[in-house]
Amino acid sequence: METALLGAAEIRDLAERAGIRPTKTLGQNFVIDPNTIRRIISTAKIRPEETVLEVGPGLGSLTLGLLDAAERVVAVEIDPPLAEQLPDTVRRFRPEKADRLDVVLSDAMKVRHLPVEPTALVANLPYNVAVPVLLHLLAQFPSITHGLVMVQDEVADRLAAEPGNKTYGVPSVKASWFAEVRKAGVIGTNVFWPAPKIRSGLVSFTRREEPLADVDRVALFGVIDAAFAQRRKTLRAALAGWAGSSQRAGRILEAAGVDPTLRGERLGVNEFISIARAAETVPAWVARGDVLPRGYSQ
Ligand code: SAM
Repeated sequence: METALLGAAEIRDLAERAGIRPTKTLGQNFVIDPNTIRRIISTAKIRPEETVLEVGPGLGSLTLGLLDAAERVVAVEIDPPLAEQLPDTVRRFRPEKADRLDVVLSDAMKVRHLPVEPTALVANLPYNVAVPVLLHLLAQFPSITHGLVMVQDEVADRLAAEPGNKTYGVPSVKASWFAEVRKAGVIGTNVFWPAPKIRSGLVSFTRREEPLADVDRVALFGVIDAAFAQRRKTLRAALAGWAGSSQRAGRILEAAGVDPTLRGERLGVNEFISIARAAETVPAWVARGDVLPRGYSQ
């Protein structure tokens, strides 16, 4: 027999018990539709032995589904009344699973330690901080090998976009540094309480087994930010500030084998890696002008 998941009546009752009214600032749109939870769980392909990190468990809709599918759940919630109530909700609806849940009261954008090592991330992310939360967790917890997140549909498209696509940008390149990212479906607005104005999208990811290259991530992300900060400019112009001058930007692009007249939106993560590496080989004094130090020839 299938175990019950939370519907609209239970969610409203739980909100009342917690004494909360959903806020936009914290992206609080709670899932009131058990079928949506089932869909998220089956698309996430969680194995029974896994430990799942859930960000923003809220009133527990997804948490109960995750506890049914995984060995453990560690839930990071920023809102104290919600974090406090979650263990009670699990004791009430899944008494046999209550000792398999850890709740951490924290901002998921800043969390550095968890009581257990998560192997997967499954979350209905707070929409206004979805991308920084996802990137922070992928960087901070290398034990996460795969996952599924629900975000605003346009953010889902951006995360999964390929070079040349109009939605391709900083989130697409940075996410693809960590993982292979795919759009995994669209979710309507009426499965939430309160209903958001725009629809949501599912994004699934699988972490790359080997890093793409031995390159400093902070340096790489610096190039990516610079290239997209002025989207309409050619790379040579867009990277001038980052490189120190357009002359040095040109030299770095040449050394990387990247056409300086292209725009950043044409480059895949591997080309950004080549640029970050080439920057290490083109000395900073190139930025200061044409005068070559003694003993240096072009
Ligand atoms: N998982 C629940 C569901 O599906 O019904 C709630 C999802 S709701 C879209 C987002 C949740 O994230 C809320 O519970 C909110 O309080 C929480 N939240 C917002 N910002 C957060 C942050 N920076 N760190 C951790 N949790 C956050």
